[in-house]
Amino acid sequence: MRNIVAGLALVGLVAGPLAAQAQDTKFAQLAQELPTPNTYRSASGAPGHAYWQQRADYTIKVELDDQNQAITGSETITYTNNSPDVLSYVWVQLDQNIFEPNSMSNLTRTAELQKEMPLRAVEYMTREEFDGGFKIQKVSDRGGKALKYTINNTMMRIDLPSPLKPKQSVTFSIDWKHNINNQKTLGGRSGYEYFPEDDNYLYEMAQWFPRMAVYDDVNGWQHKQFLGSGEFALPFGDYKVSITVPADHVVAGTGVLQNPNQVLSDTHQKRWAQAAKSDKPVVIVTQEEAEKAEKSRAKNKKTWVFEADNVRDFAWASSRKFIWDAMNVKVGGKNVLAMSYYPKEGNPLWGQYSTEAVAHTLEVYSKHTIDYPYPVAISVHGPVGGMEYPMVSFNGYRPEPDGTYSDRTKYGLISVIIHEVGHNFFPMIINSDERQWTWMDEGLNTFMQYLAEQEWERNYPSRRGEPQDIVEYMKSAPNTMVPIMTNSESVLQFGNNAYGKPATALNILRETVMGRELFDYAFKEYAKRWAFKHPMPADFFRTMEDASGVDLDWFWRGWFYTTDHTDIAMTDVKWYTIDSQDPAFVNAQLREQQNKAPQTLSQQRNLNDIKKTRVELRPQLNDFYNNYDPLATTAEDEQAYRQFLGQLTPEQKEKLNSGLNFYEVSFENQGGLVMPLVVRMSYEDGSEEVVNIPAEIWRYNNDEITKVFITEKPVVSFELDPYLQTADTDLSDNAFPRQVAPSRFEIFKQERQRSNPMQRERATSQNNNGR
Ligand SMILES: [Zn+2]
Repeated sequence: MRNIVAGLALVGLVAGPLAAQAQDTKFAQLAQELPTPNTYRSASGAPGHAYWQQRADYTIKVELDDQNQAITGSETITYTNNSPDVLSYVWVQLDQNIFEPNSMSNLTRTAELQKEMPLRAVEYMTREEFDGGFKIQKVSDRGGKALKYTINNTMMRIDLPSPLKPKQSVTFSIDWKHNINNQKTLGGRSGYEYFPEDDNYLYEMAQWFPRMAVYDDVNGWQHKQFLGSGEFALPFGDYKVSITVPADHVVAGTGVLQNPNQVLSDTHQKRWAQAAKSDKPVVIVTQEEAEKAEKSRAKNKKTWVFEADNVRDFAWASSRKFIWDAMNVKVGGKNVLAMSYYPKEGNPLWGQYSTEAVAHTLEVYSKHTIDYPYPVAISVHGPVGGMEYPMVSFNGYRPEPDGTYSDRTKYGLISVIIHEVGHNFFPMIINSDERQWTWMDEGLNTFMQYLAEQEWERNYPSRRGEPQDIVEYMKSAPNTMVPIMTNSESVLQFGNNAYGKPATALNILRETVMGRELFDYAFKEYAKRWAFKHPMPADFFRTMEDASGVDLDWFWRGWFYTTDHTDIAMTDVKWYTIDSQDPAFVNAQLREQQNKAPQTLSQQRNLNDIKKTRVELRPQLNDFYNNYDPLATTAEDEQAYRQFLGQLTPEQKEKLNSGLNFYEVSFENQGGLVMPLVVRMSYEDGSEEVVNIPAEIWRYNNDEITKVFITEKPVVSFELDPYLQTADTDLSDNAFPRQVAPSRFEIFKQERQRSNPMQRERATSQNNNGR
């Protein structure tokens, strides 16, 4: 375009970058930010040819003490060293020790006191009184000989009798006990809930056994202390777990139940078999049966045996209060059993939605990542608000005692189930290091959760994913924010930083930067490459670029390594048309401008006040200039125009008469993030056009740029980011001419009603019936 118009009299068009200085810092390739690729992790983001990971296989026996809310366990771990290194000791995680009175978590918890404090907060602050933590009773080798061990807070080092060489395994056993925390008062990612109405307990058990720490090529041993936020880094292995509980309990666990005929009645086994063939939930233990079980106490015990292959952890739940339903889900030609376990307090919501939400999650996530590889997927309702384990998740949200619920509760329940079941993919299968990087599981999973929610119901009220929902966070004061690439235990504004921002970043990549086709392919490739392995951030960043052919270094740098935000302003628009130089046309245009020029106030008043001017009164004062028309076209003008036309080629003549409009639009980057420009032009005739300009437009100048838009029809308004794609924090400077956005006052006299719409509807219909 530049070459064609160069020969024409186009007034004032400046082509190319406004400022010539090279200022490409935001587009420089990530170098020192990323680790150097090696034989374990390749530059493409795939596992390298010498990639290795350790393995830990478990056989565990555990017994639940329902009288005292405690467990006693013993485990045998077979640890296989696939690394090229010789290991003289191994590290085991003792995450329960977070409940020890003098745990680092308890000692380093900061708090402020207020004049009024809820009882729950006080209970939580005095949780040191709970006698929690592992009581390790014995650590021994395969022959039963005691092994030397050292406990350092939530970590335990076991010294091996002889060094463990590459490709060798070592087997050792640990016996322990621990009290179970009351989750409702002490918090935690597991624990029990007590139901005073029927004097029963419901247990959600996790971090309940000493677990092998990860030893890898990046950190060596990952034995950073567990403080509560940075979750777990765990190796894969096979589990055989025997759980002994009161005989009237129903147990949910990671893996497949091995002895249904010993723990389930014939009726329950029959219903279980029906559920396995059903495409909608079938109730295996009914509410009636569960309510009956609540009222008695079994004297004897039963042992439930579960086996799970290739998992990184094991969780279970147990109660006589459990209702249990299940359905079959077909994933990639395989059958998976989606199941839910919940007390009557969860109904009516749980029976209607839980298992369907589990099934939905498996279907949507499998489409975008890998086919769900495990035989079961479970949602359990108890005290824990939301927590994930392989095949098992603990989920909150409960209707009111009267059976009604708010829409927040309904969608909160569906969302948390999608989220926690979704964690099977990130980090249970695509097994990132949660102790170090919360965003690698929470961010990726929250992004997938958003996709699954939108496939559950049109316009589903997703809390996170849409760019506009992260705007408030992105506007936060700088001292309340840290980059996404911050260790899990040091993240500020945890939910926004580790869940919302990375999820939104991925959504922006998918919708605006890369497009769905390139993004979906690359995201799936990441899942395929790192399924059942341990990916690091660089493996994700590199794979997304490697598989899509899109340079995203600028995006990772801005969104993951800084706290910059998007705030792009449209600061100016200049409008040019081609000066055709035809004197008749040019003069007519000038005359029109003259006629449109405003009359000054004095001119307007003088029109009335001065009845006659002197010249009007005395005609002899007129001369040539009183009748001269400077805008009349002369023969000389026409001659010059003909000469000019004679020099033009036919193509140039066509351009000259095209009537094109040239708009020079100025943009200013006020938030720091370089982002694509989505510009909507609205034309005089009511039609509109949207132009998507890649972020690379900022490569010469990261702060201010101009762009020329050429249109046939005159533009009446320009709008930046009209579909809210970029999380722009200030929309007031996104339109030209500026638009005034209306705001509304909300005026109310009374406190809002506390009841939910279902309760109000019920009350109204009862009143009507009474009349
Ligand atoms: Zn999560």
